[in-house]
Amino acid sequence: MKKTVLVTGGTGYIGSHTVVELQAAGYEVVVVDDLSNSKENSLAGIQEITSTKPRFYKIDLKNKELSSEIFSTHKIDAVIHFAAFKAVGESVANPLHYYQNNLGTLLNILELMKQYDCENLVFSSSCTVYGQPEKLPVTEDTPIQPAASPYGNTKQIGEEIIRDTINSSDKLSSISLRYFNPIGAHDSGLIGELPQGVPNNLVPYLLKVVGGELEQLSVFGGDYNTKDGTCVRDYIHVVDLAKAHVIAVDKLLDKKSKRYEVFNLGTGEGYSVLDLIKTFQEATGETINYKIVDRRPGDVEQIFADTRNANDNLGWKAERDLKNMLSTAWKWQQHLMRKS
Ligand code: UDP
Repeated sequence: MKKTVLVTGGTGYIGSHTVVELQAAGYEVVVVDDLSNSKENSLAGIQEITSTKPRFYKIDLKNKELSSEIFSTHKIDAVIHFAAFKAVGESVANPLHYYQNNLGTLLNILELMKQYDCENLVFSSSCTVYGQPEKLPVTEDTPIQPAASPYGNTKQIGEEIIRDTINSSDKLSSISLRYFNPIGAHDSGLIGELPQGVPNNLVPYLLKVVGGELEQLSVFGGDYNTKDGTCVRDYIHVVDLAKAHVIAVDKLLDKKSKRYEVFNLGTGEGYSVLDLIKTFQEATGETINYKIVDRRPGDVEQIFADTRNANDNLGWKAERDLKNMLSTAWKWQQHLMRKS
């Protein structure tokens, strides 16, 4: 019988790509999302790609009573918990909202998993937990830095809550996946990132500039101590990331994981903002109107992953290069532009 995976935040950017890969791998998928930062029609994109529409619940996971219906209706074998707010600036302006949502939903999920004997959890974490590391590339053993924002703190505390819960139980096992910078979209151009309002992140902003919705891309800082003065990040294709979640679920269900494991998910390559702009232009033939401006407060100068642990112990390796990330992102943007 097919195993069932509950994907919280499954209509969102990384969630929707993961649902596609889970279904392709033969899992039954149940999606829960409150649609606070995504649209229900991503399910139509998933259906078009996989010919299967996952069962969907529009529920706010802060409501435990409503959420319990999912567990009483389905025998959930594993949970992938994406559902969370993720805008750094917003979290600084409204920290309680972030703590309430990101931690409240995690607590409810853990309690429901315990109540309904679900033993396997994949948690969506972030490289933000490392701050600006002293040594690059970053391994999973790199000391965690005090969080630079309430958002980052919810990821750190989330990991701690899971560890404590595992220590108190002989059943729960979990894998936390620390993402570097996910970009790109499904090859079909049918699902992708859908930021609401003016995007904060580099690629969604750039796409709107190229698409003509925004005037100019501001490159935040040209005087960093990097090869061209702009910040360096480890960009990773969202489909590669999605596949890592399937492998993590397999590992948990096959009882091949330790009780708690953490993996960095990146390519191991660092690219500067100017590298990314240049590669986008080469990949698409489009020209980007950009200007180097002041640094953005809170940005780390450079970060990229040591991927050996994920390669050796998760059995996963990123396959797609920056050019592929950017051409698929552009295909998705063109899809959005045709629809509007
Ligand atoms: N960035 C930029 N202009 C933008 C948005 C981001 O120059 O409009 C830079 C930012 O300073 C960082 C990189 O792009 O060096 C990636 O930023 P993003 O917000 O996408 O992700 P972060 O690494 O902050 O999580």
